Amino acid sequence: MLSRFSRCINSSALILKRRLKTVAYSATETSVKTEKSLTSEEIFAREEKYGAHNYHPLPVALARGEGIYVWDMEGRRYFDFLSAYSAVNQGHCHPKIIGALKSQADKLTLTSRAFYNNVLGEYEEYVAKLFNYKKLLPMNTGVEGGETACKLARKWAYEVKGIPKYKAKILFAAGNFWGRTMSAISSSTDASSYDGFGPYMPGFEIVPFNDLPAIERAFQDPNMAAFMVEPIQGEAGVIVPDDGYLQGVSELCAKYNVLFMADEVQTGLARTGRRLACDHEDVRPDIIILGKALSGGVYPVSAVLCNDEIMLTIKPGQHGSTYGGNPLACRVAIAALEVLEEENLAENSEEMGMLLRSELMKLPSDIVTAVRGKGLLNAIVIKETKAFDAMDVCLRLRDNGLLAKPTHGDIIRLAPPLVIKEDEIRESVDIIQKTILSF
Ligand code: PLP
Repeated sequence: MLSRFSRCINSSALILKRRLKTVAYSATETSVKTEKSLTSEEIFAREEKYGAHNYHPLPVALARGEGIYVWDMEGRRYFDFLSAYSAVNQGHCHPKIIGALKSQADKLTLTSRAFYNNVLGEYEEYVAKLFNYKKLLPMNTGVEGGETACKLARKWAYEVKGIPKYKAKILFAAGNFWGRTMSAISSSTDASSYDGFGPYMPGFEIVPFNDLPAIERAFQDPNMAAFMVEPIQGEAGVIVPDDGYLQGVSELCAKYNVLFMADEVQTGLARTGRRLACDHEDVRPDIIILGKALSGGVYPVSAVLCNDEIMLTIKPGQHGSTYGGNPLACRVAIAALEVLEEENLAENSEEMGMLLRSELMKLPSDIVTAVRGKGLLNAIVIKETKAFDAMDVCLRLRDNGLLAKPTHGDIIRLAPPLVIKEDEIRESVDIIQKTILSF
């Protein structure tokens, strides 16, 4: 037993030694060329062979990221105009966030919530004060944040609002996207999300997005507990509601004692030019869901914020997650939020977004039929022809050095990291213009 164990240690040490040798060799070479043990084509083929086919990535294999740029296996550099669906607001591998990750990784990474850790409380206090809510519940992914909000809404409905047990309903807007769990797809109106996965979660209802009278009609139901909505619908194609919509939602929720739950997983954390997209209309939701950029793309961190009347309806043992609130996540998230504040990324997002949209508006309108967005969450709509669609445009953008991804066939989201500067916006616009004109 002992000899097998020591043999095992010896062989592990040998593997480690070999790995270190490779790393040391890589580090002496320039750029990503040294990591080029595989070509991009080989990377595509390996994923195709061994991975589930639940995504359809743009054919580009990335090996390095820094700020607004990413590099592929062959060392080609690209502007990243997706920012990992707005998770990398602070830019790739932000030194402050990576520094926090590294230094905490040497001390303590995970205790579970069976014990206290010395970082969680500091993080909770920092975030609660920053967003002016009484309490935070830590989770990992955005969809877990949405699940947590729905559980809080149901608990609050029974214990505070007085809805008869298990009769509570939650209202959603058509076109919503909040992830891939059974609850999330049960509220989806996109067949590619829900089709084939029933039976679905009961107690969910849908109204059209940007339709206040429809919300008021739905709120006549005394069992309505909450309305969950994205301030701008991201995955639906950057759909911006009319001015006053969020204000109207807030007023209706207050009038009918229904919780206003804002899914700020994609729109929050400076992406739309404010700390929260709800700040554009000075509204204060009862529940805020954050994720993605809460860690600057470094680690899965999400959170739900609300006041005591809602949060304290969940008691010990009724909700949680092994990794939620771990010290590594908390340190990373504090650093990620500090970067947003210290580097004034909301202001930069607002300014650069205005510049980007004003330049995109100059694109030929027979190809680009609409330009919309707020801050640096933007989209262009491509007129589909027999000759090309938005995917063809994205492939050619890639060839010209800019990465973006189509959604719903004809929409291209343009959402670079918020650290982008004016000359870089202009350079990117030149690439987009050259690409569009090539069709
Ligand atoms: N909510 C919104 C608005 C999103 O855009 C997403 C993901 O794109 C989610 C929730 C789910 O986040 P995650 O993929 O981290 O679960």
